[in-house]
Amino acid sequence: GQTKRQIMIMQDFGSNVLLSTPSYALNIAETMEDMGVDTSRLSLRVGIFGAEPWSENMREEVEKKLGLQAIDIYGLSEIIGPGVSMECIEAQHGMHIFEDHFMPEIIDPDTGQVLPMGEKGELVFTTLTKQAFPLIRYRTKDITRLISEPCVCGRTFVRMEKITGRTDDMLIIRGVNVFPTQVEHVLMGIKGVEPHYQIIVNREGSMDTMEVQVEVSEQLFSDEVKNLEKLSKRIQAEIKDLIGSTCKITLVEPKTIQRSEGKAKRVIDNRKI
Ligand SMILES: [Zn+2]
Repeated sequence: GQTKRQIMIMQDFGSNVLLSTPSYALNIAETMEDMGVDTSRLSLRVGIFGAEPWSENMREEVEKKLGLQAIDIYGLSEIIGPGVSMECIEAQHGMHIFEDHFMPEIIDPDTGQVLPMGEKGELVFTTLTKQAFPLIRYRTKDITRLISEPCVCGRTFVRMEKITGRTDDMLIIRGVNVFPTQVEHVLMGIKGVEPHYQIIVNREGSMDTMEVQVEVSEQLFSDEVKNLEKLSKRIQAEIKDLIGSTCKITLVEPKTIQRSEGKAKRVIDNRKI
């Protein structure tokens, strides 16, 4: 939030570095356009972006719009948050893992076997210097591969590719981790809500949006509109309490959501990343 203020601060202090999620960086760029800010007069040089998946196209767009060099950063809150690995500005290709603190391995997510260098699999970390809360062979559930070839920057730390997927069904929406089961937990605690729902994720402009479509009972659906509105507000508030993110709630008639013949398709992710 407070995007205009962020931009003012950037102008006043002559900020060189912007650290945010890539989608928020695009939002800042759009707000600058609306405000008539000339980005070539800003002092921004480097953008460090992470906490959500983003593509090379997105990198080009952010670089062009904000007039900076965009680099990727990776981390996870179980270890230290952001800063487990980061791209170098020289290559912008693969994130150097700070191997003096974190030892990476790539395993086959099904068998747990360590895979040869360069193969794609689940990223596993052992912390080497972390005190009080060390992690040993911690499975991140993130899918990537390691790059051992020397980097043009001269650093010898191994690099990891951008995360290309997860071994579980976790979604990352505006930098927030969301599990469909969390949404389900909220829905199932509310009377009149049927156990049929779908989460639809879209990217509108540069921002991710999440919509939850949920069936309500016949009786409730034929009820007064204001009661339905009250219900959808309640679901929205409870989801926000639990995951910290606002989503759109759409209440639908019974039997509207397509029934599956196997594993229920809970998530429709329309983002093209
Ligand atoms: Zn490098």
